[in-house]
Amino acid sequence: MQVLQMRGPGELVLTTLPVPTPGPRDVLIRTLAATICTSDLHDLARNPFGIALPRVLGHEAAGVVAACGEEAREFAPGMRVAAHPVVPCGGCAECARGFGHLCARMGHLGNDRDGAFAEYFVQRADRVRRLPEQVPATVGALLEPVAVCLQAVARAGAVHGRDVLVAGDGPFGNIIARLAVGQGARRVIVAGREPFRLGRIPGVITVKSAPKASADVSILAVSSTQAAVSCLEALRPRGRLVVFSALPEAVALDLTSLHLREQEIVGACNDEERLDDALRCLSDPELALHEIVTHALPFARWTEAFALARDGHDRALKVAITFPETA
Ligand SMILES: [Zn+2]
Ligand SMILES: [Zn+2]
Repeated sequence: MQVLQMRGPGELVLTTLPVPTPGPRDVLIRTLAATICTSDLHDLARNPFGIALPRVLGHEAAGVVAACGEEAREFAPGMRVAAHPVVPCGGCAECARGFGHLCARMGHLGNDRDGAFAEYFVQRADRVRRLPEQVPATVGALLEPVAVCLQAVARAGAVHGRDVLVAGDGPFGNIIARLAVGQGARRVIVAGREPFRLGRIPGVITVKSAPKASADVSILAVSSTQAAVSCLEALRPRGRLVVFSALPEAVALDLTSLHLREQEIVGACNDEERLDDALRCLSDPELALHEIVTHALPFARWTEAFALARDGHDRALKVAITFPETA
């Protein structure tokens, strides 16, 4: 099978590998669509998580079941499915506490095992969901991005009737803003730089920089220390900052200001089993999440797809790589 393998910083190579064999609890999936994530671009540029190379990247994908392990009885060849990349070990202290998404021995597609920028990939069956008929594979590939955005909103506490600031106009900021609107936030303000991207989020107020003391909740959905500071300044007393994006460096904090205003800062990383909620969101016409995927390019045009995801902020949001419908 053809795959995109990372071999070093900035080095992504089209090569051939054997089709993987599913283990007893696994599903072998013939890829139909895999979306490019900001984290793929970061991995490729400077490998911040220290992925052991060579590695097939790609962790947001949907496809057709090609084969099942003997214990993966809920699936059968031919079913259209989407995969979540995180594989909790089930045995560590965090897994035992019910925090599989914070697992100390977490497996992750495209990180410790080969991912989905490939004609086939394998995932443990409990991390796979059947796709509703009306959800195309390019949208199904958003299962995990939507699940982690649901986590970001959940970590904010109830957003219903409250003012929410989302810092960042990328695919994650866009999805988070849509979910906050869908969950009945009073006002959703999105701060970003790209008019194209800001113009693609219905039902929100868009701004270049966050107004101070304007939000009950601020959600950091851009990897910027300046944006993190703005998010804190945007909070009202008793407000809560959700740190959804990883930051490139430490941020200096005025904890006295936090004390005086009784504010909170929480993290949001991966998601607590929100696959089924995410699946419902993918087929919710109100959320219109298909609008997140602005481009779908066939696998043969993968260099163009990566360039567009990296440099095309003025014309692209999420870029999908697609594969033939039939094997
Ligand atoms: Zn991702
Ligand atoms: Zn674990």
